[in-house]
Amino acid sequence: MTLIDSHCHLDVDDFAADRESVLARCVAGGIGAIVVPGVRRADFETQRTVCASSPLLHAAYGLHPVYLDDHAPGDVDVLRDWLLRERPVAVGEIGLDWFIEDLDRARQQALFEEQLALAKEFDLPVILHVRRSHDAVLATLRRHRLPRGGICHAFAGSLDQAKHYLDLGFLLGFGGAATYERANRLRATLRALPLSALALETDAPDIPPCFVERGGRNSPDFLPRIAALLAEVKGVPIDELADATTRNVAALFRLPVA
Ligand SMILES: [Zn+2]
Repeated sequence: MTLIDSHCHLDVDDFAADRESVLARCVAGGIGAIVVPGVRRADFETQRTVCASSPLLHAAYGLHPVYLDDHAPGDVDVLRDWLLRERPVAVGEIGLDWFIEDLDRARQQALFEEQLALAKEFDLPVILHVRRSHDAVLATLRRHRLPRGGICHAFAGSLDQAKHYLDLGFLLGFGGAATYERANRLRATLRALPLSALALETDAPDIPPCFVERGGRNSPDFLPRIAALLAEVKGVPIDELADATTRNVAALFRLPVA
């Protein structure tokens, strides 16, 4: 059984002190690959260095909508250079965040579309950050059809919205949020979706699962436990969930995973 963490910010300082031991626990736990998405230009170098330190790690590069005020006008051009030079597994994470109210929506939209164009130019899938903005994201994706699709990370939309993503060639990322018993709607969505629609993720150090104490750090080596809880929710054997999600994610990002 091999698992893939399709979304983990292992490059951030939260892991500076013990990154190697975290990775060792990932290997011991059967994690065969971890995708590390980018959020802003200033972090790309660190991200590349971290990803070069282990064959488990695969970088994506992108400009995250939440960090809108950190992005300079030339950053999309810099991103383009990185895609050209580094050949990452995806463009991301990118998208629209309508949860944070004072984040300029028009600027987010423009930044999102510029990066979708880059994904198309480099024939890459995308990793999407979407909060309270699924319909706008879906409408945008319909205008910028991406042949390689992508993942809607930390999916929390409706089943109907999930089906629209599937129609556009996207996987839906599930992780810590669905481990909580009170997450009824999200769990119902997880149960209703076919295994071919799913990707597993931790989003570590964020979105701690139910077994991490409040305010604690999430970590990619928790993925086996998260996967076991999600398999239980879905009512399938853990091996089935692992095999399907690993196959889905490896194919999407063209990862060398057995
Ligand atoms: Zn993220």
